[in-house]
Amino acid sequence: MSQEKKPAAEPDVMEKLVSLCKRRGFVFQSSEIYGGLKSCYDYGPLGAELKRNVKAEWWRRMVHEREDVVGLDASIIMSPQVWKASGHLAGFSDPVVDCKICKERFRADKAPKMNVGALDSPREFTIEITAPDKGIAKVWQESKGVPAESITRFKRDGRVLSAKVAVRRSVTGKSELAIADPASGNVETATWHPCNDYRCPVCGSPFLSDERQFNLMFRASLGPVDPIQNIQRAVEELAKSGGPEALSDPAKLKAAIAEAVEKTAVYLRPETAQAMFVNFLNVQTSARMKPPFGIAQQGKSFRNEITVEHFIFRSCEFEQMEMEFFVPPPGYVAEGEKDDMAWFEYWCQERRNWYASLGIREENLRLRPHEASELAHYAKACQDVEYNYPWGWGNLKGSRTAPITT
Ligand SMILES: [Zn+2]
Repeated sequence: MSQEKKPAAEPDVMEKLVSLCKRRGFVFQSSEIYGGLKSCYDYGPLGAELKRNVKAEWWRRMVHEREDVVGLDASIIMSPQVWKASGHLAGFSDPVVDCKICKERFRADKAPKMNVGALDSPREFTIEITAPDKGIAKVWQESKGVPAESITRFKRDGRVLSAKVAVRRSVTGKSELAIADPASGNVETATWHPCNDYRCPVCGSPFLSDERQFNLMFRASLGPVDPIQNIQRAVEELAKSGGPEALSDPAKLKAAIAEAVEKTAVYLRPETAQAMFVNFLNVQTSARMKPPFGIAQQGKSFRNEITVEHFIFRSCEFEQMEMEFFVPPPGYVAEGEKDDMAWFEYWCQERRNWYASLGIREENLRLRPHEASELAHYAKACQDVEYNYPWGWGNLKGSRTAPITT
């Protein structure tokens, strides 16, 4: 998602919008009387009507008014095999890291890299850790989460803490960091601390937690047997077969528990598209369709997002309206028919026009083609319809070819 920052005055707009939505009965915070549940929202009397109207209008234009698109309403829980085959079970686990200084949680692969020097020639440079203000910088300098001598070696100037450091690759292949003695400025005399190959994207600190797997799919258990009971049994069996030493081996213990959990594990779908793919043949034969044709679906999807933000626009539970349009591969396109790229262009314009027809102002809508580096591995081309949100341009929907999703 591309986002261009707007001037600082804009956050106000979001606050006003959220409070207006509540007062008028469009959107409430979920479970508000119990303090609210983060990132979950309820649609009030007017919100429920608005949402139904948008969905109905989409279905009318997309399915009822077209000869070449049919509907589907698949279950939210699907066979875990679907998510194994699609790569979601593996690909949805992104290692995340916590910053020990500013407490930000972020994806390891998205963090700014630190160039690490070789063992015999560590790379020396000045690290700056930037706090939002002077007071917070002061608190950070007394941070308890990092070795005390490390952070006290940083000099504070206003809201910036800085120190000369050296980073090197140790004999074991891990990265190490040494902080110069503030008096002599000499790195040689300092102790080496283990560190990551990157820094916090928010404050710039090199003091980070270990990487942890964080599964973006919601896992549930199918069947009445509580998975905790299966876990207990697996641990008891491990102790019986491998003795108490097996229990103190973290890898063995984790593997045994994972196996016990996986027996009954199912996942709430993280997207609606897979149901269209796995039902392709059912739909094609029962509705007697022949490519080019589309399958449309509306429904809830769930993602355990690392960061939930922007009110209902990035939440863990969300509703999708999605259509997969299947076209004949190049070489099988009939004379005078549209090929894949022509269909792609057609759907990009068609969807953009649909948003405009709902009354969204033209100047707040744009089509943004993806760069080659942003494309999903299976996509030939992709374009987002973007909206100018209070926090800048962001995705409203995406279209991509192979097959075309819109
Ligand atoms: Zn940080």
